[in-house]
Amino acid sequence: MDLPIASDPSLPVERKAEVAVVGGGPAGLRAAETLAEGGCRVVLYEGKASVGRKFLVAGKGGLNLTHSEALERFAARYGEKERGRWDRLLAEFGPAELRAWAKKLGVETYVGTSGRVFPAGQQAAVLLRRWVARLRALGVDFHVNQRLEGATLTEGGWELRLQDTRNKKVQTPVFRAVVLALGGASWPSTGSDGKWTEFVCTLGVPVAPWHAANCGFEVDWSPEFLQAAEGLPIKNIAVTAGGRTIAGELLVTRYGLEGGALYQLGPELRASNPPQLWIDLKPSVTKERLGAQLWLGLKPGATVERVLAKAMESWKLSSAAGALLRFHRPDGEQSWQELVDRVKRFPVTLKGPRPVEEAISSAGGVRWEALDEQLGVTSCPGLFVAGEMVDWEAPTGGYLLQGCFATGTRAGRSAGRFLSRGV
Ligand SMILES: Cc1cc2nc3c(=O)[nH]c(=O)nc-3n(C[C@H](O)[C@H](O)[C@H](O)COP(=O)(O)OP(=O)(O)OC[C@H]3O[C@@H](n4cnc5c(N)ncnc54)[C@H](O)[C@@H]3O)c2cc1C
Repeated sequence: MDLPIASDPSLPVERKAEVAVVGGGPAGLRAAETLAEGGCRVVLYEGKASVGRKFLVAGKGGLNLTHSEALERFAARYGEKERGRWDRLLAEFGPAELRAWAKKLGVETYVGTSGRVFPAGQQAAVLLRRWVARLRALGVDFHVNQRLEGATLTEGGWELRLQDTRNKKVQTPVFRAVVLALGGASWPSTGSDGKWTEFVCTLGVPVAPWHAANCGFEVDWSPEFLQAAEGLPIKNIAVTAGGRTIAGELLVTRYGLEGGALYQLGPELRASNPPQLWIDLKPSVTKERLGAQLWLGLKPGATVERVLAKAMESWKLSSAAGALLRFHRPDGEQSWQELVDRVKRFPVTLKGPRPVEEAISSAGGVRWEALDEQLGVTSCPGLFVAGEMVDWEAPTGGYLLQGCFATGTRAGRSAGRFLSRGV
């Protein structure tokens, strides 16, 4: 979509349609791209010495750009509450548009076995370099080492208070429209430290507190269990919390558990105190069948050790699953029926999530109710937000970057429209 250049006769020619984007992550870069493609003159401010640092970190584990699943299912990944909004955001810039965007930068994408979409060669650095080159070619003016400390609505527009992180000098440029894409609160070393909430709150914008999302949880493992299972995966399991069950795998760590199945249950786990998890270690086998397999060849009165050894063999349990049954056995468990019950519903009480700084993403940020359909802050005309700084969360699988691209596109288009129409 082409956006017309703003035409406010009261502004000098060189100031027409000037808009600031603050935050050089994927959401901010995409907003800047959308605006520049529409003919707006864009200034992009970034607090760090370079843009896209978290995007590069994401690339280290194989940059999962988006997912190939059908759009109807896609929107549900962002939670049921704002589903309609996500349906519309993804209809505007969904997985197909994201893949076409990468192709335009000369980077082909492919669908992996899990349905996740990756750039061929999986090089985030190549993609970022070409993206920035494209933005420069479109006239986007980059200013790095500029940290936004505050924003005030004046007669001429939004006055930004930007501090140069090298010499502490402050500048206060004014823009009629501003897109903020300041990220969440995980991995602060990349620049996304979530500290912007302080000045955004002073504007009267409601902000939800930060929580770790897509993160590990802590468990009080016994030393014996850790010795046997630390660093081992528990595969082909189903994990339940708060009435929701996810198939997948977990990884045993020194401090607790990690893994995709756990990440997806973050909202349910945060809702219970203490967070409680149940693991079905043999989801495809019924209790009756497990019992029959165990009993076959087991003598009456067999010792607990013998029953456990037989269970490992008959049920083909992994070492970590076997260690769970062996070293986290409730006092007094005697019968094989109880063991079968535990295999199908192994309880793990979690101490709590790992710190938000370590998490892949964060929940919290600008609340949806503060925003209109255009991602404009309703109480702050001309101020738009995008990316992880908005209070949404999604599982790993490409949904995070897709969410940043979709909201960046919408915020950029909306800011362009605001400039052109003054609304
Ligand atoms: C280890 C890891 C792996 C990941 N892997 C994937 C993956 O494979 N697929 C996926 O979909 N997602 C992945 N993600 C998540 C994804 O990287 C983020 O969702 C995405 O980067 C968020 O984009 P954003 O533009 O909203 O914010 P960010 O990328 O966090 O960018 C925000 C920018 O704003 C700047 N900023 C912040 N405050 C200020 C300020 N006051 N003034 C000026 N500038 C400021 C920051 O320096 C930063 O550059 C991963 C994340 C991590 C940590």
